Amino acid sequence: MKRFFRALFFFPRLMISIIWSLFWFLIRLVIGLAVLILLLVFLAKNSDSSLAQRFNQTVNQLTSYVSHHQDQSLAQTMSDLATDEISQKKGARWSANSASIYIKSSNKTLRNAYQEAIDNWNATGVFTLNLVTDEESADIVATDYSDGASQAAGMAETETDSLTGRIVHVDVKLNTYYLLNTSYGYSQERITHTAEHEIGHALGLDHDDSQKSVMQSAGSYYGIQSVDIEKLQILYS
Ligand SMILES: [Zn+2]
Repeated sequence: MKRFFRALFFFPRLMISIIWSLFWFLIRLVIGLAVLILLLVFLAKNSDSSLAQRFNQTVNQLTSYVSHHQDQSLAQTMSDLATDEISQKKGARWSANSASIYIKSSNKTLRNAYQEAIDNWNATGVFTLNLVTDEESADIVATDYSDGASQAAGMAETETDSLTGRIVHVDVKLNTYYLLNTSYGYSQERITHTAEHEIGHALGLDHDDSQKSVMQSAGSYYGIQSVDIEKLQILYS
């Protein structure tokens, strides 16, 4: 009789013990991998070797919050649609109050707009943008694109280090489809405001539709206001 019961419970017991060990094996595997990744991240952060930097970059790309900040075109302003759906990561900023910027756009109107926008942000005295001639080394790359489907006059693609919360790279783009098409009526002044707005995102500023601000999500009717300078001061204080 005893032997009969032992035989009867043998298989269920065997199954339970197999599932149980499999469960613990997976738990240990996950913990082991997590520790390994954290260790590699730590080592890469504290090493200057090119391999470590490559690894670092990959981790940044994988874990960073990449925000696509699209700005409203005049066409959309007129149809009174909502502001950007995706917003900047709150509190993200550069580690210091300066960054290098490369103007990649070859269009003269946009190059002038970027140059003036850079001068105007530098004139605030809060943040310094250093113009460089090498794209590879630039923190911010200012360029253009043409997209009639996006309904955006510009955008800022911000890459943030998820561990430190600091911005590591930004691609600022102006949409030639709207800005350089006379039927949308963008004056040189408003194109400059659009450039100021996108660079404002690149510095870490978010939209402000509550008052006169260069960071209004639509229209680009205002240049840099004292409220924008104050927000930048708070961000980098
Ligand atoms: Zn915006």
